[in-house]
Amino acid sequence: MNDPKVGFVSLGCPKASVDSEQILTQLRAEGYRIVPSYQQADLVVINTCGFIDAAIRESLDAIGEALHENGKVIVTGCLGAKGDIVKQTHPKVLAVTGPHALQDVMHAVHHHLPKPHDPFTDLVPPQGIKLTPKHYAYLKISEGCNHRCTFCIIPSLRGDLTSRSIDAVLQEAEILVRSGVKELLVISQDTSAYGVDIKYRPGFWQGRPLKTNLFDLVNHLGELGVWIRLHYVYPYPHVDEIIPLMAEGKILSYLDIPFQHASPAILKAMKRPANSENVLQRIHSWRALCPAIAIRSTFIVGFPGETEHDFEQLLAFLDAAQLDRVGCFAYSAVEGATANRLAHPVPEDIKQQRLERFMQHQAKISATKLNTLIGKTLAVRVDGYAQDGKLLARSHRDAPDIDGVVVIDNPPDHLPAGELIQVKISASDEHDLYGQVVGFDLPNGGQAERWTNMTGP
Ligand code: SF4
Repeated sequence: MNDPKVGFVSLGCPKASVDSEQILTQLRAEGYRIVPSYQQADLVVINTCGFIDAAIRESLDAIGEALHENGKVIVTGCLGAKGDIVKQTHPKVLAVTGPHALQDVMHAVHHHLPKPHDPFTDLVPPQGIKLTPKHYAYLKISEGCNHRCTFCIIPSLRGDLTSRSIDAVLQEAEILVRSGVKELLVISQDTSAYGVDIKYRPGFWQGRPLKTNLFDLVNHLGELGVWIRLHYVYPYPHVDEIIPLMAEGKILSYLDIPFQHASPAILKAMKRPANSENVLQRIHSWRALCPAIAIRSTFIVGFPGETEHDFEQLLAFLDAAQLDRVGCFAYSAVEGATANRLAHPVPEDIKQQRLERFMQHQAKISATKLNTLIGKTLAVRVDGYAQDGKLLARSHRDAPDIDGVVVIDNPPDHLPAGELIQVKISASDEHDLYGQVVGFDLPNGGQAERWTNMTGP
């Protein structure tokens, strides 16, 4: 019997016992054997109590005994939720979670004692089935949303914000990177709000304490040595903390911020999060800190009540913000959206005219910005060869499918997707850049990103 063996110590009240039952059930379902002694176990899980001093003492003693007898210990339960007491008393524990944290405990167990082989599920690779090409993957950090934008029905479909634990997200990211992914695209409905719903619960990653918040997440993702790209970031003040990580090359200098509009009246009617922040000033300060930063956004024109004056405010914002990548939609009345009940819907022909005017306006800005890159050398990742033999790649400025590409003439044969190369830009249009390969000697991993930013615009 080579099944991995887990010892289990369950302390505390009936609620803790139910948590223990769930963990034991999951362990058995996955093929782990539960054994009755420290000596037989490959690893020990202790479900603790932290209610009164005597219970805390008992829990800490039990952890000490298991460390002494076995050495590999994962702690869960109420004591785990009491700050750093467990780690301070017993720094050698492998992981600590709070109560009712089945997924976190299982992630920690998987990490330190891999799951036994299962001939049915092991046909699936560890990273699961992905719809994206092998060299990039989406990393979803939360589900749902606490906002109630009037044009959106996502909260009614997916509920309020539910953040995944930071250990689970980092573990998934690590598995993806091990499977060959070179670029992780962080997604959610509201990336800036990550961890709010679970009060930035503490977690552990590779023995280090960290909090479930955006900064700790991207800071640790940045250590995986691949491109990290952030989507759906609302400009809350704490987003400023992320910009230095971009400036030092730890994550890509790219922010996808769905502004949706620029007229204060329309933003108010939309009930947009962070609409009162001084967005232009923030953008300027981000660019001062990280000149290479590429900012992408999406907008809606023709929202109910949008006047010509509101629309012109939006065009003026485009001029002032000089965004790098922009998408725009004409407002469409999604069934169930509260905005449908607002007064003064914009006639369809005006919506379409404004959409066209918007796109023409931004196209000029985009073309001018891309033109300034001619003569520069950019680090790009290869996506693949087009039918005409040209090589398609993307720089830090280009998310797959939604932004532009870098088209490379006369490329060498057989450059694999995901490869990082240097390209000298020789031409541009409204969306894309064109250039030639000038180098292959890019260091892999995090250093490559640093290089990207240094040679960016
Ligand atoms: S638009 Fe985004 S922030 Fe607003 S409610 Fe929908 S998901 Fe939430």
